[in-house]
Amino acid sequence: MANFNTHITVAAVGSGLLSTLCLQVGFIGTSDALLLTLVGTIGGILPDVDLQHSYPSRIIFSLIGMIIAFLWIFSTKNELSIIELWIIGLMIYSAIRYPLWMLFHKYTKHRGAFHSLVAALAFALFSTAISFNFFAKTAFVSWLIGMVVCYGFIIHLLLDELYSVDFMNRRIKRSFGTAMKIIDTKQWATSSIIVGVAVGAFWVSPSPTVFINTLLSSETYQIIGDRMLPSGFTL
Ligand SMILES: [Zn+2]
Repeated sequence: MANFNTHITVAAVGSGLLSTLCLQVGFIGTSDALLLTLVGTIGGILPDVDLQHSYPSRIIFSLIGMIIAFLWIFSTKNELSIIELWIIGLMIYSAIRYPLWMLFHKYTKHRGAFHSLVAALAFALFSTAISFNFFAKTAFVSWLIGMVVCYGFIIHLLLDELYSVDFMNRRIKRSFGTAMKIIDTKQWATSSIIVGVAVGAFWVSPSPTVFINTLLSSETYQIIGDRMLPSGFTL
């Protein structure tokens, strides 16, 4: 199993490279490039959310708690005093960070349903839906955010599999095959919830047409090709 430092470093480098590319071809501005690097890095530790008492699990539940608390604070009009906003915000955060976190770990097991491609897709669609509906991102940027979460997530699964091959002894550890799977058939209840989240998130996501057209357009690859190497350089 790859450790936390490996996961976060590889995901940060991978997302940084991809964000630079998106920035240079004019897909996004500077602030969105930073955001993409951040969400890709989070994607890279996201599968280990099912490992209780690990950094990823604590970081992710803290992040979710903060995001939901702030979304609530921003959405309330000025009826409440600052002190009330602080207290309720803190209560929302704590409820997610502790009771919900404990409840979550009661029903999940490490390298179970969350180490799967279906979970990567669900988290990606969920991020797209949140970015579009709550953070006023354009349809294109929202889909890009979802795709980068998926990208970071898959880097994690690949690293886990890579680390279960013992190169020195050329043997394969027992954990091989537990990280990268399409869906966890041993945990049907959790897997069904994950599929449900994916379908629900897709339902409230913006149309992916512009995003898909841009990805499939030959012009996009022309621009990438032109910007990739220093001018005057040809392969
Ligand atoms: Zn893992």
